[in-house]
Amino acid sequence: MGSLALKNITKSFGQVDVIKGVDLEVEDGELVIFVGPSGCGKSTLLRIIAGLEDASGGSIAIDSADVSSTPPSKRGIAMVFQTYALYPHLTVRDNMSLGLKQAKHPAAHIAERVDFASKMLSLEPYLDRRPAELSGGQRQRVAIGRAVVRKPKLFLFDEPLSNLDAALRVNTRLEIARLHRELGATMVYVTHDQTEAMTLADRIVVLNGGRIEQVGTPMELYNDPANLFVAGFIGSPQ
Ligand code: ADP
Ligand code: MG
Repeated sequence: MGSLALKNITKSFGQVDVIKGVDLEVEDGELVIFVGPSGCGKSTLLRIIAGLEDASGGSIAIDSADVSSTPPSKRGIAMVFQTYALYPHLTVRDNMSLGLKQAKHPAAHIAERVDFASKMLSLEPYLDRRPAELSGGQRQRVAIGRAVVRKPKLFLFDEPLSNLDAALRVNTRLEIARLHRELGATMVYVTHDQTEAMTLADRIVVLNGGRIEQVGTPMELYNDPANLFVAGFIGSPQ
C-alpha cells in the first residue's frame, strides 16, 4: 500500500509563493517523477510530502489518511537525498539499522531487514565499513538500502543521481527501476533531467514556477505536450 493524494498544496516563504496550488494523485505502486527547471519547487514539494516542510495550505493523504499534521517519522515514508546524508561515524550496517532501532523494532527483525536490503543492493561486502571507505555509488546504494530497510509506503528521491558520474548514473537508475519492480513500491522522484524522467517514470509531472503544467506518461507528454513549455522541456518535435 502507498497511494498519495495532494489537494491544493501551496507554500510561501515570506512574501514569495513557491508552490501555487498543486493537486496530484499517485497510485499505489506507481513511480511518478517531478521534473522541471531549477527553482520551480520540486524539492519543496517533496519535502512537504515528507513532512520536512509545512505547507501553507492544502492537504496530503497517504493511503487515504490525512497526514498533513503527522510528523515525518510517522508518515511511512523514506527519503533518499542527493547528498546521501549518511552518518560518517556509523558502519553501513548501523546506518541502515538506525531508523528501525529508533522505532524500537526487535533486534532480530532489524537484522532480517538489513539482510534483505543489503542482498537486494549488493551491499553485503560493505556492511562493516564506514561511509568514508566507500565510493560515491556505494554510498548512494547504502542510502537507498537504508530506505528499503524501513519498508516505507512511499519512497521519496530528491535528485539521487546528481552527485554520480555518468556511468554510475545509468547503473543507479537501473537499480532504482529494479527496486521499483521487485518491491512494487510507490515512488516519487525528483530530477531536473528529462532523460532520467523519460526512461524511469510511469508518469511525469512537469512543474514550472510552482504549478503543474502537465501530468502524463512519458509517451503522452512526448506525443501530446500541453504547451510549448512542456514540448521544450521534454524535447518533443515542435
Ligand atoms: P527545485 O528543487 O525545483 O530546484 P526548490 O523547491 O528548492 O526548487 O525551490 C523553489 C523556490 O523556493 C526557489 O526559488 C528557492 O529559492 C525557494 N526556497 C526554497 N527553500 C526556501 C527556504 N527555506 N526559504 C526561502 N526560499 C526558499
Ligand atoms: Mg531541488
